[in-house]
Amino acid sequence: FTRPLNDLANQYNVILSAVAGAERVFAIIDEAEEEDSTKKLPDLTIKRGEVTFQSVSFSYEAGVETLKDISFRAKAGDTVALVGPTGAGKTTIISLLARFYDVNKGKIMIDHQDTAHYSRASIREQMGIVLQDSYLFDTTIKENIRYGKLDAEDEEVIAAAKAANAHSFIAQLPNGYDTILDSNGKEISHGQRQLISIARAVLADPAILILDEATSSIDTITEIKIIDAFQRLMRKRTSFVIAHRLNTIRNADLILVFDTGKLIEHGTHHELMKKKGYYYDLLTTRDGEGSLGAS
Ligand code: ADP
Repeated sequence: FTRPLNDLANQYNVILSAVAGAERVFAIIDEAEEEDSTKKLPDLTIKRGEVTFQSVSFSYEAGVETLKDISFRAKAGDTVALVGPTGAGKTTIISLLARFYDVNKGKIMIDHQDTAHYSRASIREQMGIVLQDSYLFDTTIKENIRYGKLDAEDEEVIAAAKAANAHSFIAQLPNGYDTILDSNGKEISHGQRQLISIARAVLADPAILILDEATSSIDTITEIKIIDAFQRLMRKRTSFVIAHRLNTIRNADLILVFDTGKLIEHGTHHELMKKKGYYYDLLTTRDGEGSLGAS
């Protein structure tokens, strides 16, 4: 059963549909998978949101080590920026944290609990994930936001949209919150789709947040709205950001710098600049900014 799970989890779309309280897609997979095991895993409870990777190694394919001996600790409430060139392993870190895959070696601890011993569904329920290509369902905007909390009243949906800076553009649509989205997403822009997925995460109110900053074409005004909504969403919860903006990286409590599956350096911007190592080099050379993913 590992293969379809791998294939699915590899698609951002499915990752997103599995989180923020909408873990239905994976429920089927998990059920089949966990039926197999002799005992059902208990649910994980996240109280504070401290995350520790202890000597984690992981391979997608036998013989190719994708992550090598990764250790770090994010304190509850920290904003953690993951940086490094494409293929460095940032997405894989996130996928392991949400237990889309299991580690080959080492442990991932949330609030001192080894996530390998807890049900996947309970882990994902408590994580909000907002990615560049936001997955939206072929239904109304209102229902898309409500996916964050299935029993939310309309007022809560609207409040979440306001907190996500999505309300004003939704209110201007001829059918407002009842606008039906289709998978081609012609009705609204790429950035507006992301605002809707932020609203969904606001409503879900997750203990841990995972964000992928946009690199693709988003108009400036919408981008400002997204950044502002992200900042509000990150407050008071442990957040992992695949960061492309230099400003996000600079302000992070912890920067994790990856290259070819290794955690090369970690620390704050100040610490890493003082160290004059890999991060410093990336930031102080023109080419470097490109490979940091910063823009
Ligand atoms: P990043 O997010 O930093 O761009 P990834 O975590 O996506 O990096 O990828 C790390 C490495 O793992 C890359 O070499 C990538 O090709 C490989 N990889 C990612 N997903 C899979 C997969 N499902 N199967 C096999 N290899 C993968």
